[in-house]
Amino acid sequence: MKVHNIMEVVVVDVLKKYKDQLHMPCTCEQCMNDVLAMTLNHLKPQYIVKDSNSAYVRALHEADRQGSTAILTKVAWAARVVAENPRCDKLRGPSE
Ligand SMILES: [Zn+2]
Repeated sequence: MKVHNIMEVVVVDVLKKYKDQLHMPCTCEQCMNDVLAMTLNHLKPQYIVKDSNSAYVRALHEADRQGSTAILTKVAWAARVVAENPRCDKLRGPSE
């Protein structure tokens, strides 16, 4: 079974591109992964067959054309939730 959720790649792309504009209090791997997971849970997945490169490229373009603003909105929302409920040690402080 080789299927892949193209949205994963798209969201990682958006995250990298707009990282500075999200004003995350922490951008460690854990926090970024939390944002990624939360965003993906609230986006409709787009599955493709992983070995098919043309489908991959087409899906990426399609997602970019019709959805990058919507995806960015979701990413910004997830970044806010993670910032308010940090799970990483850096933000929780030593007392917890
Ligand atoms: Zn962190």
